[in-house]
Amino acid sequence: MRIGIGRDLHRLERGRRLVLGGVVVSECVGCIAHSDGDCLVHGVIDAMLGAMAMPNIGVLFPDSCEKNRGRSSLSMLVEVAEIVAAKGYVLSNADAVIMLEQPKLSPFVGAMRHAIARSCGVGEGSIGIKATTAEGLGHIGESMAIEVVCVCLLKTLVLK
Ligand SMILES: [Zn+2]
Repeated sequence: MRIGIGRDLHRLERGRRLVLGGVVVSECVGCIAHSDGDCLVHGVIDAMLGAMAMPNIGVLFPDSCEKNRGRSSLSMLVEVAEIVAAKGYVLSNADAVIMLEQPKLSPFVGAMRHAIARSCGVGEGSIGIKATTAEGLGHIGESMAIEVVCVCLLKTLVLK
C-alpha cells in the first residue's frame, strides 16, 4: 500500500462559477484558476500523485498549457487514475476536507462522491468528503479563499 496527501487553495472571486467534485455549487462566487478550478479534485489528484511519489498537479497539467484552459479537473483525475493503474495501483480510499465559508455543501456531497468515485473506477464507499467552515476567521472565513486537504491510500491492483 502507498499513502499520499494533497492540499490545494484557490482565491475566490465574485461572478465566477464554483465547481467542486465536478458539481456546480455556486454561480455567484468561484475559484480563480486556469482550469475549471475544482479545488476538491485538485486535492484528490495531488494525494494520488503524492502516494506514487510523483510531482504535483501543476507539473503534470501546467497552467502554461493552452489545452488545460477551462479544462474539467475530473478529466485530469481520470488521467491520473490511469497513470496509477499503469504503475500497478488502484485507489483504496480517499478522505477529503473542504474548508469553505459558503455555500453549505451538504446537499452536494453525494453527487461529488459519485463523480470522483466514477472517475477513479471505484465505489462511492471509497470516497469520504467532509465540509467545514472557518467560523468567520481568516481568508477562508471572509470567503476570500477555499482550501482542501485530502489523504488517500493506494493498493496494489490485483488482476482478475
Ligand atoms: Zn487547484
